[in-house]
Amino acid sequence: MGNTGMNKKAIVLLSGGLDSILAVRIMQEQGIEVEAINFLTVFCTCTHKGCQHAATKAAQDLKIPLKVFNITEEYLEIIKNPKHGYGSNMNPCIDCRIFFFKKAGEYLKERGASFIVTGEVLGERPMSQRRDAILLIEKEAGLKGLIVRPLSAKLFNPTIPEQEGILDRDKMLDISGRSRKPQIALARQFGLSDYPCPAGGCLLTDPGFARRIKDLLDHNCLALDEVKLLKFGRHFRLSETAKLVIGRSEEENDLLCSLARPEDIVFKLKSHQGPFSILRGRFDPSTAFRVDGEQGRTIVAGMIERAASIVAHHTKFRSENLLDVCYWKSGDDTDRITVSVKPASAEEIERVRI
Ligand code: SF4
Repeated sequence: MGNTGMNKKAIVLLSGGLDSILAVRIMQEQGIEVEAINFLTVFCTCTHKGCQHAATKAAQDLKIPLKVFNITEEYLEIIKNPKHGYGSNMNPCIDCRIFFFKKAGEYLKERGASFIVTGEVLGERPMSQRRDAILLIEKEAGLKGLIVRPLSAKLFNPTIPEQEGILDRDKMLDISGRSRKPQIALARQFGLSDYPCPAGGCLLTDPGFARRIKDLLDHNCLALDEVKLLKFGRHFRLSETAKLVIGRSEEENDLLCSLARPEDIVFKLKSHQGPFSILRGRFDPSTAFRVDGEQGRTIVAGMIERAASIVAHHTKFRSENLLDVCYWKSGDDTDRITVSVKPASAEEIERVRI
């Protein structure tokens, strides 16, 4: 075989899950020097103790260096308009993978490595691991022939490092599909017992979260601060430019409090325990809504009263006729105002719930 100057150094996309760990072990068996990268976005469900930690732990166990890229800001642009569309929710998996691989390709050059390794298994994930998707992603990332998938290698054409004799194709595998049995058997062969369950949840695949992301997109306000807020509380769309978020637990109340901007309007029950809520956005104080009044009558209320009535609904006092709710600007709690509102009805809540 000819030699194009390829060396025995590779970059692995390491999630920390079993597949990527096995991919590294198979490469190490062939004498390949492996360095790892991991991508972190605000959409990882396991930012604190899971994902990054899993990758960090795996890299330590495998004795390989790890570089973590936090890529949320760039990634938001992909979500706004993915060339290859979304999966079953707001997950633009194909564009996402192209983006990850492009980054990996840049890092490959930076580190003087010759090829990329992944734990991908043909057909394991519905959108991004179909054969046509895998090949499309590889091509669009400009890495044709340079991505080695040790777990499924025999199901693809030989890669350049195989053609160059850097890798022995016979020592790689032909796993496909969603059964995890072959990987578990392989883990046993390698003496691996302490490995995490499939790593890396992605909030974009969660239907409830996806609905909230879509709402931000539809209202032209998909930005990092707004996305962070989506992770907590109940969300309500009150107008094109205003939304209300209500904490569901003490922990969420504290988190919402820490995420509130000075100009957000904060709501709390005046003399009872209740959720912490924030009204965010632009609205004309004179904007009027039709809301439920006493004895089924409809009354007209402003944005503040409407938000307060939705907050009042989410307390154990929702059957009361009137409740006192305080509100103030998050950045200035010296100026607290109280409104008496009838808690919103279940129908009203359904109308505005995101
Ligand atoms: S599930 Fe999420 S992180 Fe994974 S490829 Fe799809 S969009 Fe990207």
